[in-house]
Amino acid sequence: MGDLFKGSHCTCGQKMNLELRMLIHQKKTRIYDVPVYVCEHCEHYEVLKPVKPYVVQYIAAIDGSLEHADVSLAEMNESVHVLYSVLQGADQETEAEVFARFKEAFDDRVNMLLDLFGCARKMKDDDWMREIQERLEQLSEFAVLLPENSNFYAR
Ligand SMILES: [Zn+2]
Repeated sequence: MGDLFKGSHCTCGQKMNLELRMLIHQKKTRIYDVPVYVCEHCEHYEVLKPVKPYVVQYIAAIDGSLEHADVSLAEMNESVHVLYSVLQGADQETEAEVFARFKEAFDDRVNMLLDLFGCARKMKDDDWMREIQERLEQLSEFAVLLPENSNFYAR
């Protein structure tokens, strides 16, 4: 079992579960599908560590804009996208089953992007290569939660 679904324990001593939640920033921006560990007991929650810098960066970037916004983190971040797709309909499964599916979906996503990267390189499309590189980096930040997969991504 990797660290992803294990979760840490809350300061109150209870187990924390992985969930996707909506976060509201300054009453005007709703960010959906944010992976958080939630305490079963006291409602304390923590944003998943590898995703946190991304969320903070996003909030900093939109700060000061007067627009209201509804966004989905799953549409902006590759790792969250994979997590989102795996957690759909995972209610009937054990943690081990969900984790196995996550690893598979994660690897599929990486392989798909590496294939795309090959195409982009062949076409000498620098912008596209950069974009794919960024998406791969979002995945590699998440890979620390998958110890068995730690060698999958080499630049
Ligand atoms: Zn608690």
